[in-house]
Amino acid sequence: MTKYVYDFAEGSRDLADLLGGKGANLAEMARMGLPVPPGFTVTTEACRVFLATGEAPAQLNQEIAAHLATLEQAAGRRLGQVDHPLLLSVRSGARFSMPGMMETILDIGLNDYSVLGLAGSPERERFAWDSYRRLVQMFGSTVMGVDSALFEEALARLRKEHRAADDTQLDTADLIRLVETYKDLIQERTGEAFPEQPAEQLRRAVLAVFTSWNGERARIYRRREHIPDDLGTAVTIQTMVFGNLGADSGSGVAFTRDPATGRPGIYGDYLPNAQGEDVVAGIRNALPLQDLARLDPASFARLRDTMQKLEAHYRDLCDIEFTIERGTLWMLQTRVGKRTAQAAFSIASQLTDEGLISAREALDRVDGRALARLMFPRFDTSAAGDVIAHGIAASPGAAVGEAVFDSAEAVRRAAEGRQVVLVRQETAPDDLPGMVAAQAVLTSRGGKTSHAAVVARGMGKVCVCGAEDIVVDPRQRCFVAEGVTVPEGVVISVDGSEGVVRLGAVPLIDSEVMRYFDSGGELPDENAAPTVREVHRLMEQADAARRLEVRANADTPEDAARARRFGAQGIGLCRTEHMFLGDRRTLVEAMILAHDDVGRAAALAALLPLQRQDFTGILEAMDSLPVTIRLLDPPLHEFLPDRTELSVRLARDEALGRAPEPRDAELLAAVTRMHEENPMLGLRGVRLGLVVPGLVAMQVRAVAEAVVARRRAGGDPRAEIMVPLVDTVEELHLVKEEVERVLSEVSRETGVTVDCPVGTMIELPRAALTAGKIARDAEFFSFGTNDLTQTTWGFSRDDVEAAFFSAYLDKGIFEASPFETIDREGVGRLVEIAVREGRAARPDLKIGVCGEHGGDPESVHFFHDVGLDYVSCSPFRIPVARLEAGRAALASVAADERRAS
Ligand code: ADP
Ligand code: MG
Ligand code: MG
Repeated sequence: MTKYVYDFAEGSRDLADLLGGKGANLAEMARMGLPVPPGFTVTTEACRVFLATGEAPAQLNQEIAAHLATLEQAAGRRLGQVDHPLLLSVRSGARFSMPGMMETILDIGLNDYSVLGLAGSPERERFAWDSYRRLVQMFGSTVMGVDSALFEEALARLRKEHRAADDTQLDTADLIRLVETYKDLIQERTGEAFPEQPAEQLRRAVLAVFTSWNGERARIYRRREHIPDDLGTAVTIQTMVFGNLGADSGSGVAFTRDPATGRPGIYGDYLPNAQGEDVVAGIRNALPLQDLARLDPASFARLRDTMQKLEAHYRDLCDIEFTIERGTLWMLQTRVGKRTAQAAFSIASQLTDEGLISAREALDRVDGRALARLMFPRFDTSAAGDVIAHGIAASPGAAVGEAVFDSAEAVRRAAEGRQVVLVRQETAPDDLPGMVAAQAVLTSRGGKTSHAAVVARGMGKVCVCGAEDIVVDPRQRCFVAEGVTVPEGVVISVDGSEGVVRLGAVPLIDSEVMRYFDSGGELPDENAAPTVREVHRLMEQADAARRLEVRANADTPEDAARARRFGAQGIGLCRTEHMFLGDRRTLVEAMILAHDDVGRAAALAALLPLQRQDFTGILEAMDSLPVTIRLLDPPLHEFLPDRTELSVRLARDEALGRAPEPRDAELLAAVTRMHEENPMLGLRGVRLGLVVPGLVAMQVRAVAEAVVARRRAGGDPRAEIMVPLVDTVEELHLVKEEVERVLSEVSRETGVTVDCPVGTMIELPRAALTAGKIARDAEFFSFGTNDLTQTTWGFSRDDVEAAFFSAYLDKGIFEASPFETIDREGVGRLVEIAVREGRAARPDLKIGVCGEHGGDPESVHFFHDVGLDYVSCSPFRIPVARLEAGRAALASVAADERRAS
């Protein structure tokens, strides 16, 4: 029989799939002997049963009851008993942390009787009723579905009556009344009474947590973080401890290092006389954790000691929640903490130096996404205006956008393609859609661990929080800072690295990390920014570890040179189409309009020297490294003027009684003749080369002559010729014959032997499926995964991305766009087949990828795993690809080791 419930003593951090991160880490802390309130966890498997069938597994209630009985026995108290009751929290926790995205219900077990028992003595009465009203409120909204705003309003009304600034000023009588009001609200809205039976509360709370897996904010969050929709959440049921028992109690959150910069030390917030959720919600401004040293030195020392133990145990930055109940420290949560890109590199470096992790593990602690973030531009403060607000630098980066004051407005403006900054007093889980839509989040309240800060860091969004010198007025839709009123729509610049806000759009400049790569990635000196040195160090490790080569997609000498500085080991895709644009367009038109071979030959002859010059420049920039030149790919009508434009021009001439330009009429005839319903699937690629006489010969001659020119200049040119859109080996065979003919012609004419490998793109399913045959004629393969994705799925990227991709992502049909991250199952399968059959036919076949996937972190791992030789991507993505290629190599070594042991 499946076991659905695990006591903390039975779990460990290795069981996160089953117990969720929270449950697994609570179990781990309990095993380490840390002070964890006792409890047990219902598995994600039970949740999956619930999600699939709408009902919890049949024996779940029994299992929970058995574990509860053990818990009660050990505590010597019963759930909700009248005298000194045991109370529970029911907490959500998925495999991957989704902070604040699902539900947690505290103080389960309270009712009209046990609330008296919880109080016990007169000085605890207020506390007991405060806990009770929290339960009714949380239960009413989360479990029974009453709009939480109604509870908030009732609370606000009461506060106003008493002119109370916050809840702590309400007395017992107020809270008793509030509980009544809340219960009436529930009855009125649901037609049902608040359940007084503790067992009933527990049962329904568990189901509500299951259900919250599919709540709107949880779904949005998962989509953004690429967390699969079918994992489900675990539910942890845990003995309550109370941070709201007076001045000697409190709750806090802490990090073992600064999650924004990575600096070591103890960072966090502490709120005396409060429950944990008050800290995260930012309702009252918390104290810096350091203040606890003064307030309660013994607990502070214990906490510091515990944090050290945790960091040594997890060998990473830990993020914790704790509560102090009457001077006793309780650990309520820990996890390996989210961090900014800068902190990720910094912490990986520090932990290596401290001997806690190996160099190999260090590489595992960073990733391409973080590196890409460090390459983003930052503000040019020399050109910046006055700072209008200071806050906490909660999530670094530079963002410019129009100030907006609620989530809906952020979403609305972003949908119009505008950049916005979400400005709130504090954010709540309901603000998530707006945070996703915004470039940055600015709040006037809350610390480094407030909802805004945690969520923004997780998403890599810029965030300044706790900017106490501004007053946010969502009703008037403005904020006031330094006496200036900033209304909605005004552009502000938010600097999440410095924690400041400026009016207007501050210009951006390259980041230090970008400058480091652009200057060739040389060893930085001691004066370099620490981040640059940390990046350098990890890049060296990645380069040493990786098997995949990294090449660039580059079409100009400038791009080629930059790619080389960024560490490219060649060009994997040099497109030739842009060489047919600009002033050369007329020559191309002449070629297309030519009536006979002579006219066409003349047009091609005029193009030849220009092409040769292009190739010479690129081969020079990439001297001694391979340059894969792709023959012309797009349909020729793309080089002609637009059909409608031509028709309009001719019609206007006619209407004005002017004689039309003869060339216009000729062009229109050509455009009309060449019109295609589906250009993506039309006359392009190798097909073009086979039907337009002289085109391939001209391009190949230009390459060959460029090679000769470079050789004569003392260079070491390594041109390779790549044939696009091949479906069958016959096509390749014919083109290859022509290529070889031209190469030997040029060799003969010049006396310089020109020998370019000829290979093909694999970008059509048929090519992938017949790769064994194609490999007989191809010296290399390069997967064109953009076209391969289009043709495998049967949709054209330009048409579908705007039309229905967001709906597909919403419905969970895709976890990520298959144009961003390779679809392993479908497209990836074709890649695997082609690699296997291609290598079987030609063991030394060189294989790479030149689609945009070549620079996508996840896809790079796939390409490593299937045994490609190189990935090729845009110059700016090269550092990311190098890093991920290194990580992929180490990951597969680690996987082999696991298998062996
Ligand atoms: P989240 O995943 O959103 O952080 P949690 O399950 O951690 O949700 O719970 C929300 C808040 O309730 C946290 O601040 C936590 O510290 C507090 N809490 C949870 N369980 C208990 C408990 N047993 N005793 C006291 N406070 C608790
Ligand atoms: Mg928590
Ligand atoms: Mg293509």
